[in-house]
Amino acid sequence: MTKTRWAWTEIDLGAIAHNVAVLSALTPADTDFMAVVKADGYGHGAVQVSKAALDAGATHLGVATVDEGVRLREAGILAPIHLLSEPPSSTVGLVLLHRLVPALCTLEFAETLHRQALLRETVAPFHLKVDTGMHRTGIRAEDAASFSAGLKRFSAIKLAGTFTHFANADVPNDWDTERQLARFAQVLEEMRTEGVDPGMVHAANSPATMLWPESHFDMVRCGLALYGLHPAPETRTKVDLRPAMAVKARAGLVKRVPLGGGVSYGLTWRAASPTDVATLPLGYADGVHRVLSNSMEVLVGGRRAKQVGRVCMDQLMVELPRGVTAARGDEFVIVGRQGSDCVTLDEVAERAGTIAHEAACSFGMRLPRVYV
Ligand SMILES: *Cc1c(COP(=O)(O)O)cnc(C)c1O
Repeated sequence: MTKTRWAWTEIDLGAIAHNVAVLSALTPADTDFMAVVKADGYGHGAVQVSKAALDAGATHLGVATVDEGVRLREAGILAPIHLLSEPPSSTVGLVLLHRLVPALCTLEFAETLHRQALLRETVAPFHLKVDTGMHRTGIRAEDAASFSAGLKRFSAIKLAGTFTHFANADVPNDWDTERQLARFAQVLEEMRTEGVDPGMVHAANSPATMLWPESHFDMVRCGLALYGLHPAPETRTKVDLRPAMAVKARAGLVKRVPLGGGVSYGLTWRAASPTDVATLPLGYADGVHRVLSNSMEVLVGGRRAKQVGRVCMDQLMVELPRGVTAARGDEFVIVGRQGSDCVTLDEVAERAGTIAHEAACSFGMRLPRVYV
């Protein structure tokens, strides 16, 4: 529990360490492990997750934005920090100051990085990001070799790695992933033919780490699985991951709603008989998506209880199941285990029409965290 709120997430750093260990065990011993901690560690707290992951054997950290990288440096983290996509050129000063390793895929960024590194009399490492079929960021595969060869004229930047990202690695034996892998292999070959050393080669996200061993190369980049979440049903049988996040709250009030009494905005739920309803002090601003209104379950007294009425910004209400009594201050579980039952993040995500990645990020936005 936290001092200031009766709603919080519990983050199990032992689970993070366990997940690093079981994921690393899938790769050859000399394969590096990048803990992807963007979006504040998928809502788990980037600094604490980074430290736990590095202690457990992770070698690199991956973030999405320069601000995220700077925060890790300010927390005293010395490990290599990679920007997973190319940042705006206006950030190059910060990138160099904090020794972030940027992804690079445009000439404009290369020129800026080179000029500013030259001024500082340093050589800035970068990783070339190659688009092998997702059509998101990265240099087009067919242009990668000539582009990287052309970068040799910039003496103050150094190609330290080459990477790509999969669109569909959560689908076993997917043909598009095969194609991305083949294109990536071709890019690496073309680069070497042009006399360019691709440096550290990496491609695998969580699903590829578990389902596509041929994509491991020099390093794997795990986000979702690091937090104990499965990207696909097929990965459940491959790795014993431990979920790191639980979401809990204490009832602020429990009150009897009379027959026909409505609950919350719009009175979308009415009591069919006198019913005890608990008010929990968390809402959609804490990651309980409003679309879950009247269609989610939480745990109380080791039993499942229905959420009733619209989810508000800061509150939600729960109908106490018959036979369960609860009072102000009693603990409810929104995500996690209580007694013999468990509500998974996947269950909440599915009911909300989204994926566990988004559900975790959402719970990370405002709820205070307790590390266990
Ligand atoms: C977010 C991200 C990852 C991690 O993906 P997961 O599926 O969560 O493991 C890896 N690589 C890149 C480039 C990413 O943007």
